[in-house]
Amino acid sequence: MLLRLRPSLIRAQVEAVLELARSLGYRARFIDERRTLLQLEGDGAPDHRARFEDLCGVSAVLDAGTVRELHERAGRPDRAVDVGPACFGGGVVSLIAGPCAVEDRERVLEIARAVQARGATALRGGAWKPRTSPYSFQGLKHAGLEILAEVRAETGLAIVTEVLDPRDVAAVAEAADMLQIGARSMTNFALLTEVGKAKKPVLLKRSYMATVREFLLAAEYVLAEGNEEVVLCERGIRGFDSGTTRNLLDVGAVAHLKRATHLPVVVDPSHAAGRGDLVRALSRAGLAAGADGLIIEVHSDPSETHSDGAQAILPETFGEIARDAQVIAGLDGRTLRASRVLRWG
Ligand code: PEP
Ligand code: MN
Repeated sequence: MLLRLRPSLIRAQVEAVLELARSLGYRARFIDERRTLLQLEGDGAPDHRARFEDLCGVSAVLDAGTVRELHERAGRPDRAVDVGPACFGGGVVSLIAGPCAVEDRERVLEIARAVQARGATALRGGAWKPRTSPYSFQGLKHAGLEILAEVRAETGLAIVTEVLDPRDVAAVAEAADMLQIGARSMTNFALLTEVGKAKKPVLLKRSYMATVREFLLAAEYVLAEGNEEVVLCERGIRGFDSGTTRNLLDVGAVAHLKRATHLPVVVDPSHAAGRGDLVRALSRAGLAAGADGLIIEVHSDPSETHSDGAQAILPETFGEIARDAQVIAGLDGRTLRASRVLRWG
């Protein structure tokens, strides 16, 4: 590992760095005359990089050397995460589709059947909704979970739903096959720790304000608890032109994450665009950048929903995206895992 120390440190600050290095079993030596570059030799562990970064004498970890955080690719093969009939990664692409929120049992079932017939293997739908205003529809909560459990029993689709509060993790894990951590919760470390203890795959959404490093360290919270089934989700970051698109889909980050980590990556074109008419184009872009799946808001009557109606697409458009996904995945030898009742057109 190679550390850059801040210039003009007092002796005690240098000693603190050397002492930590010794206590972690490293041999340390300065490799420049100004004594700002400190080379550490020895075996690393996932937590070492952050422990050095925390010291006020260290300005940067220039080279992590053998220190590997759990999300890092570091020669690891692609992780494939199975979620019921869906699978993300390891050359397999899957599609999650459904309403923004669970609002009505019959409607959710209708949408579930419509997206399943067109290639989805997982249903999305929030029972708890993180809303900017406390007066907006907050979700049906436990009643919403019951509806999702019923839809799973009826259709066999995997259920992906958001958990907002660490105290609800057990209840949500019972009804869901995958726990969604929303963009607004990406830095809720108590929640990340709790889902890290759960025995369920986690769909971790990137905050619209987070750097890629911050996103990966959020994933590290889950991995560090022993839950290796983490799927990263790029859903758009805040740009300067929200009058055109709600967020900016960071396709560069998708391509980077596929190289830098062994974790599957899913793209959410709906929250990135904020407009239904752009969802198909952003879906194609995400898959072409290497995404292992898509999570898309679909509604049979977008004018009737309480949340995110403008970005919802009709099941027919979702069917076209599923067909695109099969073609784009095939370009680099990947396959779309579609539902067994897949029908085109
Ligand atoms: C959602 O999936 O409906 C949602 C609230 O997404 P995000 O957390 O990305 O805003
Ligand atoms: Mn939504």
